[in-house]
Amino acid sequence: MAKLRTLSIDFDGVLSSYASGWQGADIINDPPAPGAMEFLDKVIHSNIFRVAIYSARSGQKGGIAAMQAWLVKHMGDYFAATYGEDDRSKATTYVNEHIDWPLVKPSAFLTIDDRAWPFRGAWPQIDDLAGFKTWWEEAALKTEAPKAPPMITIRIAMGNHHRDITIHGARTLINLVSAERAALMVSFEDHLLAVAAAGLFAWETQKAAQDSNIPVAQTASEV
Ligand SMILES: [Mg+2]
Repeated sequence: MAKLRTLSIDFDGVLSSYASGWQGADIINDPPAPGAMEFLDKVIHSNIFRVAIYSARSGQKGGIAAMQAWLVKHMGDYFAATYGEDDRSKATTYVNEHIDWPLVKPSAFLTIDDRAWPFRGAWPQIDDLAGFKTWWEEAALKTEAPKAPPMITIRIAMGNHHRDITIHGARTLINLVSAERAALMVSFEDHLLAVAAAGLFAWETQKAAQDSNIPVAQTASEV
């Protein structure tokens, strides 16, 4: 049998989801990253690679033991769910016999890491390195609450009078002031926002009209 090639796999942010960030070398509370256990199972059965798990935890007190205990639990859960409860105990064999736990960076055919720049002969720009985001940082950005809709302030002016109206959720503004009606036309990309904003628009414009005697359209849709 051909000698297996070493596939060095990082732990935090690769096998573990790293949702809680660093809690200590021997503390791991996060679940596996999606698909991590399936992947390890596949690699070990590939007969091409020998997995080495190497992390910043590896050289620290209690780090390897914590990663091993974590993997026994989560591989066990995966085996039990995939192959049946009898296979849960195979996780211990996998962790102890099919995976290497080097103390120093291993000489590997390939490395899987969430914080690495694959070097292909051309040096990266410093800004690209500085702006690098891991897959889990990008995922967190996507799930953040959407920003508040933009606001547009319209100034209605006639003669010496003016009134500022702020419309929330307005995306684009087409400003049309007719001589007779001093009307404003507002367009929105989002229909629901338009309905909400239309009410505000009509109300504010009515108020503006009272304050400044500007004749206005009754509703935004009529404008
Ligand atoms: Mg990492």
